[in-house]
Amino acid sequence: MTILSEILKHNEKFVQEQKYIKYETDKYPNKRLVILTCMDARLLELLPDAMNLKNGDAKILRNAGALITEPFGSIMRSILVSIYTLKAKEVMVIGHHDCGMANLAPDEMTKIMMERGISEDTLHTLNASGIELQKWLTGFRNVEESVRKSVSTIKNHPLFPPDTPVHGLVIDPKTGKLDLVVEGYEK
Ligand SMILES: [Zn+2]
Repeated sequence: MTILSEILKHNEKFVQEQKYIKYETDKYPNKRLVILTCMDARLLELLPDAMNLKNGDAKILRNAGALITEPFGSIMRSILVSIYTLKAKEVMVIGHHDCGMANLAPDEMTKIMMERGISEDTLHTLNASGIELQKWLTGFRNVEESVRKSVSTIKNHPLFPPDTPVHGLVIDPKTGKLDLVVEGYEK
């Protein structure tokens, strides 16, 4: 059985048995929170549990490394949409230890791409057209530093409402322990 058919089979039963009832809520986050965190699979359930977040409590955005690489990309847009139209009032950026984006090596990754059938020509063409692959495929060295940078990108965004707190945290993917890096409330 493929993973897809396994999921579809489970899903049919899930809906039939009305297991969705305990998740029912509306589109507004109950705790008025928008969280940017990493897509790491260890955080799938651990992060909400460790923060006492239930279905409907928060908007959770996930990408590789909890990074904002483009001030006008989809992550920043999602944060702004959460605040301006979905009633979120605070933002949390949550990086984690042992992240796959820490020390990501662009050269190593492009090497694997070529092994998987991407031609060197394609890489050259992209670089020539202004897409800086080296930069795009670079992660971060220090997770606290990276969280601080994302917090600052959000806080200093020209469309971000200045009265909205932005916090920065780092989570341990084993124990769920949170360490505060930036406290966003105005002193
Ligand atoms: Zn990660």
